[in-house]
Amino acid sequence: MCTDNPGVWEYIANWARKHSIWVLAYGTGCGAIELPPTMTSRYDAERFGLRGAATPRQADLLIISGYLATKSLKRVIRTYEQMYDPKYVMALGSCTINGGMYWDSYNTIKKLDLYIPVDVYVAGCMPRPEAIIQGIISLQKRIEEGKAEGAKKYRENIEWYKKNQREVLGDDFLPDYTWNFEGGI
Ligand code: SF4
Repeated sequence: MCTDNPGVWEYIANWARKHSIWVLAYGTGCGAIELPPTMTSRYDAERFGLRGAATPRQADLLIISGYLATKSLKRVIRTYEQMYDPKYVMALGSCTINGGMYWDSYNTIKKLDLYIPVDVYVAGCMPRPEAIIQGIISLQKRIEEGKAEGAKKYRENIEWYKKNQREVLGDDFLPDYTWNFEGGI
């Protein structure tokens, strides 16, 4: 029935997506320590429809929880490219926005969205569970409005992202795994 009206179908799909977000948390930095309390009984993020995912292929949301070493960037890209569309990225902490206290470090990246698209940032050092929950609510709003389009941005600007990734990874650059350039995974 809804296939006659993609607008309505997309609205219903986005409504469902926003209430069922399976999370893969990549514990790169100190922000990772705030994720367990966010998910457990005191803050109970599960009431927003969040739950943990065991593998990238089951996950809707990749959380990068702080500074990212260049060594880890390779794994993060590989993880992101294994996730199925629709998929979203949340970046926690100042380190993912501008390098934070590692702004002049030789082995951390300074701006995550040069390498993978970020759908929502949560600022702070380190962001508390209340801030993470606010970030989840912001992401849900963007999903419902059809504005959480990081994966589309990645697909459409893949050459730009690959150029940035190569500048950091050099000869260690990984091949594309499951990304279908014609229309996403
Ligand atoms: S923003 Fe602060 S808490 Fe988060 S990874 Fe950076 S230094 Fe650690």
